[in-house]
Amino acid sequence: MKTAIFPGSFDPITKGHESIVKRAAPLFDKIIVAIGDNSSKNRLFDLEKRIEWIKKTFKNEPNIEVMTYKGLTVDFCKEQKANYILRGLRSAIDFEYEQPIAQMNKNLNHNVESFFLITDPEYSAISSTIVKEIHKHGGNISPFIPEGINLDK
Ligand code: ADP
Repeated sequence: MKTAIFPGSFDPITKGHESIVKRAAPLFDKIIVAIGDNSSKNRLFDLEKRIEWIKKTFKNEPNIEVMTYKGLTVDFCKEQKANYILRGLRSAIDFEYEQPIAQMNKNLNHNVESFFLITDPEYSAISSTIVKEIHKHGGNISPFIPEGINLDK
C-alpha cells in the first residue's frame, strides 16, 4: 500500500492545496491530508473548521483522508505506514524552504521520500496567508478556495 502524507496548516484549504492532492491521487493508494498542530504559525481558523473544509473538498475521493498530528512529520509517517511526504512547489522561495526540510526528514527517516509537484500556474499566487488577508478585509475569496466552502460558516 503506497501512502502519502500531505502535511500543512490548511488555514484555510485553498484551490492550490486541492489541486496538488487531486493531481497526486492517482499516484498513491491513499493520501492523508495531515494538519500539523504544533507549528509556530498563528492560526486564524479553528482546527474543527479546517478539518470540515478539507473533508468537504474531498468528499468524493475515497482514497483521501484527513487527520491531525502533533510532533515530527516523519514520526507521523511511520505511525501511518506512509513512505511519502507530498508537497507543492509554487516558486523558488518554496523550493529554498522545502529543500532543507526534505533533506532533514530523509536524515531522520530513510524510508520516507519527499515528493514534490510544481503548482499549476493558475494557482501559483494563492496562499492561505493571502486568502486570510483578503477575507479579513471583506474581499471575495471564493475564486481561491475549493467550491462549496464558506469561511463564514
Ligand atoms: P505549511 O504551513 O506547511 O506551509 P500550508 O498549508 O501553507 O502549510 O501548505 C501545505 C503544502 O501545500 C505546502 O507544500 C505548500 O507548498 C503547498 N501549497 C500551498 N499553497 C499552494 C498552492 N497555491 N499551490 C500548490 N501548492 C501549495
